[in-house]
Amino acid sequence: MDSMLSQGVGSESGERSSNVQVSTSDAHKVDGKNPSEVIHWHNRGVAARALHLSRGVEKPSGRVTYIVVLEGLCRFNIEELNTRGPYCTAKISPLEMTKSEMEQVEQDPDFVTLSRQFKAIAMELISILEQKQKTGGRIKVLLETLPFHKLADIFVASFEISFEEQLCMLDSVDPKVRLSKATELVDRHLQSIRVAEKITQKVEGQLSKSQKEYLLRQQMRAIKEELGDNDDDEDDLASLERKMQNAGMPSNIWKHAQRELRRLKKMQPQQPGYNSSRVYLDLLADLPWQKASEEQELDLKAAKDHLDCDHYGLVKIKQRIIEYLAVRKLKPDARGPVLCFVGPPGVGKTSLASSIAAALGRKFIRISLGGVKDEADIRGHRRTYIGSMPGRLIDGLKKVGVCNPVMLLDEIDKTGSDVRGDPASALLEVLDPEQNKSFNDHYLNVPFDLSKVIFVATANRMQPIPPPLLDRMEVIELPGYTAEEKLRIAMQHLIPRVLDQHGLSSAFLQIPEDMVKLVIQRYTREAGVRNLERNLAALARAAAVRVAEREQAVSVSKDVHKITSPLLDNRLAEGAEMEMEVIPMGVNNHEISNAFRIASPLVVDEAMLEKILGPPRFDDQEAADRVATPGVSVGLVWTAFGGEVQFVEATSVVGNGELHLTGQLGDVIKESAQIALTWVRARVEDLKLAAAEETDLLQGKDIHIHFPAGAVPKDGPSAGVTLVTALVSLFSQKNVRADTAMTGEMTLRGLVLPVGGVKDKVLAAHRYGIKRVILPERNLKDLVEVPADVLSSLEILVAKRMEDVLEHAFDGGCPWRQHQHSKL
Ligand code: ADP
Repeated sequence: MDSMLSQGVGSESGERSSNVQVSTSDAHKVDGKNPSEVIHWHNRGVAARALHLSRGVEKPSGRVTYIVVLEGLCRFNIEELNTRGPYCTAKISPLEMTKSEMEQVEQDPDFVTLSRQFKAIAMELISILEQKQKTGGRIKVLLETLPFHKLADIFVASFEISFEEQLCMLDSVDPKVRLSKATELVDRHLQSIRVAEKITQKVEGQLSKSQKEYLLRQQMRAIKEELGDNDDDEDDLASLERKMQNAGMPSNIWKHAQRELRRLKKMQPQQPGYNSSRVYLDLLADLPWQKASEEQELDLKAAKDHLDCDHYGLVKIKQRIIEYLAVRKLKPDARGPVLCFVGPPGVGKTSLASSIAAALGRKFIRISLGGVKDEADIRGHRRTYIGSMPGRLIDGLKKVGVCNPVMLLDEIDKTGSDVRGDPASALLEVLDPEQNKSFNDHYLNVPFDLSKVIFVATANRMQPIPPPLLDRMEVIELPGYTAEEKLRIAMQHLIPRVLDQHGLSSAFLQIPEDMVKLVIQRYTREAGVRNLERNLAALARAAAVRVAEREQAVSVSKDVHKITSPLLDNRLAEGAEMEMEVIPMGVNNHEISNAFRIASPLVVDEAMLEKILGPPRFDDQEAADRVATPGVSVGLVWTAFGGEVQFVEATSVVGNGELHLTGQLGDVIKESAQIALTWVRARVEDLKLAAAEETDLLQGKDIHIHFPAGAVPKDGPSAGVTLVTALVSLFSQKNVRADTAMTGEMTLRGLVLPVGGVKDKVLAAHRYGIKRVILPERNLKDLVEVPADVLSSLEILVAKRMEDVLEHAFDGGCPWRQHQHSKL
């Protein structure tokens, strides 16, 4: 068959061939521009009939694409190739099989198996394609109707295979070969589809987990709606909204809250920010915007009884509290001062504040400010920070649930400022009645009215409280208790409470007054009663163990019959084991206690004290022992724990006249030491401290002064007189009296100036068993605060000048006087 040849197999292959070597357009190029390029003709081809020719749009480059639709007729072999003008011609021989040949092949068992194989794999491909594109229907029909050898060609033509592979298919004249090649190609195609599917599945799985979750949630919501179940989130938000409505927010805050709620509703629960927004709204809804404890008609008499019942002594303080309450009664909205209880730990500051709350019938909340250095602790963190929280005040109000509680700002002196801001300035705003109407917490971001809150503060010391803050408060000092007061407190309040807390009563444990006295003297040396309470609790615990042990040992059968119901009798008859199980269920504790009443209560004695509390921690001998060598004097100082006895030790060593100071001393106390040494050196002769020829005390000597309890920081000017006394004792080699303690600041000229905390110091001296106290003259007026029984047990000695101190501190007067006496 002679025919014109287009240089390609068909329209498709022609297009594809552009990627290889020859293309329709390239062929033209060969004609027009590059005639020298050689075209490699394949030796086989397909005869085709042109069905349609269309002209594409002209490109800006001037190139035009033509599309020819061809119908393939049969394969042929090129016998001889010629050129005629710009075209090629060839002599060809057809390669198609005849019908009988075809029939013969179809009988071939190999062909049958191959075609079956092909059909199976082609079906598989089609069904996959069908799932994906839903276009398999037509091909399926083809598969059923067309002969296999043609099918192979059609199938392969629709795959993306390389030009070489296409030529290879063209070359496969033998239907068997063609079929097996087609099977291979289809299989390959199938594999690649499967791999691609696997990869997309994996990627989709990873990427769209959250999307899937979202979808599932939506579906769940739809299902729940369908079932009439309320959706959790919806329900949650609805209840939040209800709570917000009932919170009684002021209108501007309500608007703000609604805005926030609208934002929340638009968010998905898993969206970042949802939770923080939710928590914030919860806080808004929980805050007591209006909710208040009902203010009772204040009964001053009852309030007084209440205070008296809870607290022994403290007459003046209780009186001041009653005055405070009386003013509140007359003018409920009066902006009274903020009471600030100042005193050592365990003197009842917290319990007084809670008594105020009880007297007013208000809720009580304690906010601990100890160690608060960050302003955000008071004012909260802005919500933009991760993990932001409201400040302690707002948090406290949320917890207490009313807007008019008594709020105790505990340890207000322990707040400190650093780089993170100044909590005290935030507290200033809180305590200022003008400003606290609209307290602004950074987290809350809307003003909250604190004006209904009654603030009470406590502090151990006044000194660290910043003056502006102190200015807003009325300070009430609680200096600590005398041993006698402590004894009364223990007998009347602490012992009954401790026994009750341990499930005991006086029928089990009795602590005689003498023993309590011993506990106070030997085991506690504090201004308050906290350690005393702790020691009493230790006694109670020990007693509880003994009672519990006896309980087990006592036979129950006799007494139990009296107290159990008849119903239990049968069960009791079953055996002792049963009895043990039944008793606690049938009767209350009190009755059991009665049932196991111990013949005689446990009475604490001295031996028991030592057994439980250990060997005595303090004794009155301490001062005498420590002052037994020259160079030691007894001072009285004031610390956060109330008054304390402070020993000062001085010694001299060979050196160059330097002064060494140890014991964690502050600048003021160091300067006091310098002043003391200078004063003593200046009076060497007057005091007859050195031999006549020795004018400098420090010649060839170093002086070392130490304040024991070296780990406790100390500062203040009141050790002045004590330092001088220690130095005089050292240089004169005379012992200071062990029963005498002193306090007072000294000037360089030897004047004794008054100091603070006299009451605490005198009480401390009393606690230590000191008999004589030397005080600056101008401090005498402070002694009115000291209980009379303490004063009567002490000899108070006044000093105007340093010489007076020395006169009192040494046995038989000042050492130089003795010299004078001996001379006379
Ligand atoms: P503070 O707050 O001063 O450290 P607390 O108020 O916590 O001390 O008191 C410690 C314990 O001592 C409390 O159990 C308190 O009831 C008791 N207490 C203190 N002073 C008295 C007192 N005058 N009468 C009765 N109990 C007291």
